[in-house]
Amino acid sequence: MELNGNDLSQIIERVLKELNEKDTKKQEVSDGVFDTIDEAIAAAYEAEKKFKNSTLEQREKYIAAMRKATMDNAMSLANLAVKESGMGRVDHKYLKLKLTAEKTQGTEVLKPEAITGDKGLTLVERGAFGVIGSITPSTNPAVTVICNAICMLAGGNTVVFSPHPGAFKTSLTTLKILNKAIREAGGPDNLLTAVAKPSLENTNVLMHDSRIRMLVATGGPGIVKMVLSSGKKAIGAGAGNPPVVVDETADLEKAARDIINGASFDNNLPCIAEKEVIAVAEIYEDLIKHMKENRAVYEINDAQAEKLLGTVLNKDSQTGKYSINKAFVGKGAKYILESIGEKVSDEIEILIYRAKNSHPFVQLELMMPILSIVKVKDFDEALETAVEDEHGNRHTAAMHSKNVDHLTAMARAIDTTIFVKNAPSYAGIGFGGEGHTTFTIAGPTGEGLTNAVSFTRIRRCTMADSFRIV
Ligand code: NAD
Repeated sequence: MELNGNDLSQIIERVLKELNEKDTKKQEVSDGVFDTIDEAIAAAYEAEKKFKNSTLEQREKYIAAMRKATMDNAMSLANLAVKESGMGRVDHKYLKLKLTAEKTQGTEVLKPEAITGDKGLTLVERGAFGVIGSITPSTNPAVTVICNAICMLAGGNTVVFSPHPGAFKTSLTTLKILNKAIREAGGPDNLLTAVAKPSLENTNVLMHDSRIRMLVATGGPGIVKMVLSSGKKAIGAGAGNPPVVVDETADLEKAARDIINGASFDNNLPCIAEKEVIAVAEIYEDLIKHMKENRAVYEINDAQAEKLLGTVLNKDSQTGKYSINKAFVGKGAKYILESIGEKVSDEIEILIYRAKNSHPFVQLELMMPILSIVKVKDFDEALETAVEDEHGNRHTAAMHSKNVDHLTAMARAIDTTIFVKNAPSYAGIGFGGEGHTTFTIAGPTGEGLTNAVSFTRIRRCTMADSFRIV
């Protein structure tokens, strides 16, 4: 059979079309997820070369698409996170996703600076680091990927994510949704990448690969220490154990309501959630009375608390020290009580306990809805106790009071990244309070509530003797 020119061009056109379709299909399947960590890093590295020349307008377009995709998928992501990790509540995870979509800051925070004088003009601008390695937790899997992605891309970086194995599917699904949104908004592929199967080895490779210019760890003390020892520029967003102090001047009804709302939010998973209450003797009983007016509250007695020590915590037989039994982290109050054979109604959302300050429920970051309430003599003792219980994490604390001197004294003494006055703790991340949100709160390294600025390098350009206009 002979082929004429027309046949040939039709064949070429068909082959090219097929190749093109195959490429698109492969991209749709991968959407930033690769078989090996090396491929994930290489793809983000290549993507960064193109992305660093993107305009602020383009970045904002991609970020707008990511915000919309977050809202479009919020319910299914909330469901997936709870189903996969077995932690937290769908309704509250949905609210966290909405907050992240609405209040994570974008490129607007990258403010340039101009210094002019007799010697000309100096410009100071914020540039990208390059490829960032972002290690994310199991407790807030989807929101951490989203807020870090928005902030890091706003700063002009690309990102290789290393999510917690306990919430891997949720984290990768989130990443794919974001990459798809970016692509549909006309952006490049692989701005956000990850490896298909979790392993600690992959995280180690990520930490030491020369193409990774910055590391960000959102998690417990172990991983924060690891990234800070990596020799790279690192941001650590670590553990907390937020105390909330209530003094004799507080509006007790409101304080009780706010504390219960904050401490029961997402089954107490957020690192900022109230973990123990320190109340002065004068109002101790009244505060508990107001808490118990709430039908979601159940008070446990000493015998029940003793039994719970054996289920929700593990005791080291050698040292006698307690640690968290992860099987109970982020579980509901009803489930926790069932572990000691107690049955309560579905309404119960939080357990309260009159604890001594030395009790493990006070001292450990439980991340489950068991709220200890410690009685102290007066405000001075409350302050001292709160500082002790926060363990120098400098993360989050709260206080309910109308005494300005007390509020000021506590703010100074506790020295935390977030200090919330007369509101639930989540007001401190912009939920019912002013200011932007993030789920990467960098206490140890000092960036605070991270935004695009945290993920940029300060660069200076000087023109001597010219360019000033006066
Ligand atoms: P985690 O420390 O168990 O895990 C965090 C991340 O580190 C995960 O991706 C995990 O895979 C990785 N990781 C941990 N050990 C590792 C190792 N040896 N090698 C390689 N990778 C390792 O934390 P979690 O249980 O997922 O999250 C809860 C903790 O995170 C709490 O302490 C909470 O306070 C903290 N947290 C802090 C913030 C913040 O913004 N400061 C936000 C969320 C959670």
